[in-house]
Amino acid sequence: SETAQTLRARAEIDLGALRANVRALRGRVGTDVQVMGVVKADAYGHGAVPCARAALEAGATWLGTATPHEALALRAAGIDAPVLCWLWTPGGPWDEGIRAGLDMTVSGLWALREVTEAARRTAQPARVQLKADTGLGRNGCQPADWSRLVGEALAAQGEGLLRVTGLWSHFACADEPGHPSIGAQLETFQEMLEAAEKAGVDPEVRHMANSPATLTLPQTHFDLVRPGIAMYGVSPSPEVGTPADFGLRPVMRLLGSVALVKDVPSGHGVSYGHHYVTDRPTTLGLVPLGYADGIPRHASGRGPVLVGGKVRTVAGRVAMDQFVVDLGGDAVEPGAQAVLFGAGDHGEPTAEDWARAADTIAYEIVTRIGSRVPRVYL
Ligand code: PLP
Repeated sequence: SETAQTLRARAEIDLGALRANVRALRGRVGTDVQVMGVVKADAYGHGAVPCARAALEAGATWLGTATPHEALALRAAGIDAPVLCWLWTPGGPWDEGIRAGLDMTVSGLWALREVTEAARRTAQPARVQLKADTGLGRNGCQPADWSRLVGEALAAQGEGLLRVTGLWSHFACADEPGHPSIGAQLETFQEMLEAAEKAGVDPEVRHMANSPATLTLPQTHFDLVRPGIAMYGVSPSPEVGTPADFGLRPVMRLLGSVALVKDVPSGHGVSYGHHYVTDRPTTLGLVPLGYADGIPRHASGRGPVLVGGKVRTVAGRVAMDQFVVDLGGDAVEPGAQAVLFGAGDHGEPTAEDWARAADTIAYEIVTRIGSRVPRVYL
């Protein structure tokens, strides 16, 4: 039901589209490969718990989060599927993670030490996945340090303190098809896997593929793929293709309702800084969404919005709570729908269009939609 809050603005989340996207991804990877639905950052702004449930209903068998707190929140909501979390900091909630049966990523010796201490305290073995840095240069264990990390993990496993359940890595440039780092990372991963398995690791899952690799690089699928953005029906990059190229449908539709329509004369400055000035007598429409809601201020003068059957451009600056469009005298009533982005098949812009307008990636557009915008689940 529509409340005053959802009338102002809302992000409609089409869980049917999300389920269909997960099924499309499962079809692409085949029955031998599991799908981990990545639901970090509140499911890229779509709502972690409803999206996690929908992904599992459609056949995802794992969930992935960045922080342990995100993973624990899934457990608190009653979700008992396997969950991997990968971004730990010293002093993290290892005890809670063990009790909750999370798969906890270890990239270095400090984390291995903390997780084994927690396993002693809780008297329960930890599920640990070792992460290899095969070239991303971010989190993960360097190849030179791998045999020591693997050796110490196996020693702890021998003491019954943990089980190494997974070996994994992450790509730097999978969204740039043909980038030479892709093959190099894959080769390094294969070497690091072989070394760990030779040393005695017998993992449940080995995995490497994010969305672009899931969509375009079948040789990287191993036992499991970790799509995030593709599950939300958004393209990883223009080079990879459009969502429709892969049978994916955007899940989020962002709407506001026009708050005011008024006539103004020619030569009227619009919004802070007067970066837009009317060049004729016209009508202005006020859209009650701003940068506090995640509308990029950098898209001032450029962001597209469907209002009154036409795509208009943000006139002047995006403010904290609102922006203006020039309606050019068209008949638009207060309360008319303003669609910032959606699936794109009803004349509305897409998240990719907003990414272009804001010189960023579509991931950032959907993820930053603020908490003041109610999510309405369809
Ligand atoms: N795996 C890891 C480790 C990640 O950090 C991410 C997100 O960046 C993903 C998978 C999902 O990536 P994407 O949204 O490109 O599918």
